[in-house]
Amino acid sequence: MQIFNPATGTLIQDFPSATTASVAEAYRRARAAQPAWASTPLPERLAVLRRFRGLVVDRLEDLARTLTLEVGKPIRQSRNELNGLLPRIDFFLEATEKTLVDETVLDEGVKLREQITHDPLGVIGNISAWNYPYFVGCNVLLPALAAGNAVLYKPSEFATLTGQHIVTMLHEAGAPVDAVALLAGGGEVGAALLEQPIDGIFFTGSYPTGAKIAEVAGRKMIKMQLELGGKDPTYVCEDVDVASAAASLADGAFYNNGQSCCSVERIYVHETIYDAFVDAFVVEVKTFKLGDPMDESTYLGAITRRSQLAVLAAQVADARERGARLLLGGNVIDRPGNWFEPTVFADVNHTMALMREESFGPIIGIQKVSSDDEALERMNDSPYGLTAGVYTRDEARARRLLARVNAGSVYWNCCDRVSPRLPWSGVGRSGIGLTLSTHGILTFTRPRAWHLRGA
Ligand code: NAD
Repeated sequence: MQIFNPATGTLIQDFPSATTASVAEAYRRARAAQPAWASTPLPERLAVLRRFRGLVVDRLEDLARTLTLEVGKPIRQSRNELNGLLPRIDFFLEATEKTLVDETVLDEGVKLREQITHDPLGVIGNISAWNYPYFVGCNVLLPALAAGNAVLYKPSEFATLTGQHIVTMLHEAGAPVDAVALLAGGGEVGAALLEQPIDGIFFTGSYPTGAKIAEVAGRKMIKMQLELGGKDPTYVCEDVDVASAAASLADGAFYNNGQSCCSVERIYVHETIYDAFVDAFVVEVKTFKLGDPMDESTYLGAITRRSQLAVLAAQVADARERGARLLLGGNVIDRPGNWFEPTVFADVNHTMALMREESFGPIIGIQKVSSDDEALERMNDSPYGLTAGVYTRDEARARRLLARVNAGSVYWNCCDRVSPRLPWSGVGRSGIGLTLSTHGILTFTRPRAWHLRGA
C-alpha cells in the first residue's frame, strides 16, 4: 500500500500490506505464543509496559514527527498525544496487579470456598482508528498484554507508520515477537483478521464499520468491543462567563481539526446569551492558525482522509440550503493535500445533517434553546451517545441534566477530555463495551468461578 502525507498530497513511502496468508500465519504464531506469555509472572509482563514507556519518552520527538507526517496533526498536538499516553501507562502499571488479584468471595474453610480468578481471553484482535493512534491503540494493546493475551494489531491504514512504531517498541521492551503482531493494511486486512478463530475483537472506528464487525463477531460468539463515533452535544446555560465558555468549546470543537471521537459536534445555547456567545465563539475560532502541521504555531493542520472533504462540503451545502447562518469558512481550501476552512454555523436545527451525522472535521453548528428541558431534549435527539456537557456555574443544575443525558461520559464545564481512571464507553451507535479504568483492564479477562470443597 502507499502512504501519503495529507498536508501535501505527496507519497511518503510504499509499505507492504499483510495478506490473507500472512494474517493466518500471525494468528498461528500468536496462538502458540500466548500460553507462555500468560504464564510469565505479572510483574515481568508489567516490566514490558514500563520499558515501553521509557522508549516513548526517549523517542518522543521522532514519534511525534512521524505522526504529524502521516495524519497531518499539528506537531504540538502530536507531542501532546504522546505526553498524554504516559499517564495512561502509569495508570495501567499502578492498577493492573490490584485489579487482577484473585478474589475469595466466600470462605467457610474446608466446607466451602468460592473464588474468582481472571484468565486472559487468549488471542485477540485490535482493529484501530487513526485520529489518536497512540491512545486508541494502546488502550487495548497495553492492558490486553498485561493481562496475558496475545494481540493481533491492525492499525488504521492512515496511521501505519505509527502502528509499526508501537509494535517495534513493544518488541524492544520485551514483549515476545509472536505475542504482538502488526497486520498492516486496509479494511480487507481487518476482515481477514476477523476470519481467524480469535477469542475477542476490540475495535475503534466508525459506526458503519463497527456494524459490519458486529455481524461477524455475533456469528462467531466472541467477545466484542466497539468504540465508535459521536455527535457530542454541549449546553451552555445563561449564567456562564461567555468568553471563557466560548474559548473552551471552540477548542473542544476544533482541536485535532475536529477529528476526535469526543469533539464537540453540537452546541446549544440559552437564548439570553445566544448572540453574545456566537460572537465570542467566532472571535475565538478566528485566532486559530491554519497551516503547515510541522510549524510550531499551527493549530489547524490537514484533514487526514481525503474522502472526508466531500462529507464536510455536503454538510455545509445542506445546512445553507435549510437556512443556517454561515459565520465562518465553509469551503475546501484549494492547495495540495486535504484542507478545509474552520467553519461555524449559527441558527441550525435538527433537520440538518450537520446536527445529526458525525462531521469529524472543523465544522460546528450552534443552536438557540429557551430552557433546560429543551436543551436536554435536543441533546438526546441523536442515535449516538459518547459524551455530553453542560456549562453553568450551578453544579446541581449540571448534575440534574447530565444524569438524564444519554452518554457514556458527561462533562461539567469541560469537554473533549479522557481520563485513564474513568471508563471510556458509549451508548447507542457510539458503541458497546469500554476501555480505561479498572473495568478496562478486566475487560481483557474472563472470570473463572471456583467452587472449592475440601472433602
Ligand atoms: P473506520 O471505521 O473507517 O476504520 C476503522 C478501522 O476499521 C480501520 O483500521 C479500517 O482499516 C478497519 N476496517 C474498515 N473496514 C473493515 C472491515 N470490513 N472489516 C474489518 N476492519 C475494517 O474509522 P476511522 O476513519 O479509522 O476512524 C474514525 C472513526 O472512529 C470516527 O467515527 C470516530 O468517532 C471513531 N473513533 C471512536 C473512538 C472511541 O473511543 N469511541 C476513538 C477514536 C475514533
